[in-house]
Amino acid sequence: MRVVKTMLCLLALFPCLSLTAFAQPAENTLPKILEARAMKIVAELVEESFPELLDIKLTPKAINNPSVFLATDIDALSILSGDREYTLYLNQNLMTQPISDLALKGILAHELVHFNDYEKMNAFELAVFYVRILADARFEAEYERATDLQSFERGYAIGIKAFRFWLYDQITPKAKALKEINYYTPAEIDEWLLSQNEVTLL
Ligand SMILES: [Zn+2]
Repeated sequence: MRVVKTMLCLLALFPCLSLTAFAQPAENTLPKILEARAMKIVAELVEESFPELLDIKLTPKAINNPSVFLATDIDALSILSGDREYTLYLNQNLMTQPISDLALKGILAHELVHFNDYEKMNAFELAVFYVRILADARFEAEYERATDLQSFERGYAIGIKAFRFWLYDQITPKAKALKEINYYTPAEIDEWLLSQNEVTLL
């Protein structure tokens, strides 16, 4: 879901962008049961649909933000070291507000598309991308929608649709309105599915 805006200082290239306000990492640790469930699904996704991420170094961490349930990040120092370390942020509400495996797998596929995109970018490209995400709301919406679309094309449209239904029940009307701008809505996902051949809507 959201590209977390933290830690991407890139040393001398740009001033350190302290963006932890977006991430609001939780002080408490990630519940082991949620971590295990999410990482099991990530492993399934990598095996099924993201073979390019087989060797990715990914650490799950807790996030405490009422409208952000999953997010991605990169350790700034690891970018220049050439041995990148990524973070997958998970909100405890994924556990306290039960979410189906279908929905969780769908949105985790969306997050893996983000990691896949980062893997293709060099340090400079990441910095440019990062600044644009920060400064340009339209670019953020276009990028998140393109990420949804990549996930659909890998077979996770129905899972993401299920996630959006779950998501809309968790957030305020104002937050929902922003999500509807930045991401495909269930109705738009149905339109995409209907544009494909031999698809049965759920
Ligand atoms: Zn996203």
